[in-house]
Amino acid sequence: MAGEASSSRQKRQRLKRQRLKRQRLVEEEEGENGGGDVVARSGTLLNLDLLDCPVCFDSLKKTKPIFRCDSGHVACSSCCTKMMNICPSCRHPIGEFRCSIMEKLVEAIVVQREEEEDKEEEEEEEGENGGGTRTKNVDGDVVISEARSGTLFDLNLLDCPVCSNALTSPIFQCDNGHIACSSCCIKLRYRCHSCNFPIGNYRCRRMEKVVKAVIVSCPNAKHGCTETFSYGKELVHEKNCSFYLCYCPAPNCNYSGLYKDLYIHYKSNHMDIENQFVCGRPLCTMWPISEKVFVLQESAAGPLVVLQRFNEPGGWYVTVNCIAPCAPGVGEFSFDLSYSMPAGGDKHTMTFQSSEMNRIHKVSFQSPEEDFMLIPHYFQDPRNSLKMTICIDHLQEDEDLEE
Ligand SMILES: [Zn+2]
Ligand SMILES: [Zn+2]
Ligand SMILES: [Zn+2]
Ligand SMILES: [Zn+2]
Ligand SMILES: [Zn+2]
Ligand SMILES: [Zn+2]
Repeated sequence: MAGEASSSRQKRQRLKRQRLKRQRLVEEEEGENGGGDVVARSGTLLNLDLLDCPVCFDSLKKTKPIFRCDSGHVACSSCCTKMMNICPSCRHPIGEFRCSIMEKLVEAIVVQREEEEDKEEEEEEEGENGGGTRTKNVDGDVVISEARSGTLFDLNLLDCPVCSNALTSPIFQCDNGHIACSSCCIKLRYRCHSCNFPIGNYRCRRMEKVVKAVIVSCPNAKHGCTETFSYGKELVHEKNCSFYLCYCPAPNCNYSGLYKDLYIHYKSNHMDIENQFVCGRPLCTMWPISEKVFVLQESAAGPLVVLQRFNEPGGWYVTVNCIAPCAPGVGEFSFDLSYSMPAGGDKHTMTFQSSEMNRIHKVSFQSPEEDFMLIPHYFQDPRNSLKMTICIDHLQEDEDLEE
């Protein structure tokens, strides 16, 4: 009973995570075309041999069910029978436990020229395969095993069904064929999330190979990035990809684009000459109290720096962020911010420094948990504008590199 309750809770959490993932995709698209279609992502499997039975080399798709031994080898059902349920690779029993994830995967992968291959395979099906030699391409058709590739549209199959992260080796499976990543096996105390059977002993090696062999493009490919990665690694790159969309910080402007285009857009549509900064030079500004967001731009259509003020119980939180992708060489700044009370004098000035300004893609109105200057109530300016001085500079390391 307890197992059922916890597994349904996990299922709900999983669904929630998947919904969030989809939502994120939609949001990304909205910036561009005002809430249009979600672009389906897909992966390419270059090594299609992984979809064949390693004993008879027939397509596993045609010979389901797929079985696995305790060492993680797979075989089609007819091979299991032929081999008297002994795995030819490790001599462990095979034929009792199914490898459900591979069954789903071979169904989901769309292989080009599949029909042609099927015909050939049928013609040659008669031959003996005992020795493990490939009989497929004997008949003069050279192309087959080389240039084949398959497309996987349902990339969720490559995610751990428990934590929804991209699967990485080792991948474990229970006797009912459910899978989980190694950290989930530990978290679930080696009990399957879906059937409560033990999990964590038996690896799903075929799946481990598939996960490594699926190539996906950067999620920003639609914006011009041409890099490709094995599944899961693209998310690490995405955070540092210079093609990540950036959003215009001007109120009521829905523009989004690559950072360079955004900077040009901002300069030609919203720029106030007084709010331009030059690196290394202090800029004195009067920040209207009615505005929660205050934007500065480096001269000559350079990066945008956004000052934000949040009303919190403890006072005002002031943040300084650069709108830029976290790519090397873009928007890497340090800053020095000071705020003065109208009475003036040193005692009425507070300062805040950062050796590295945070970079964001979009202005967020969620109040910050760190990296902010706190202006307590008793220090707040009763006038209509806040007197702030900010000095923005390139990161020190940068200058060293450039010499
Ligand atoms: Zn087989
Ligand atoms: Zn085996
Ligand atoms: Zn997991
Ligand atoms: Zn299970
Ligand atoms: Zn990229
Ligand atoms: Zn704009």
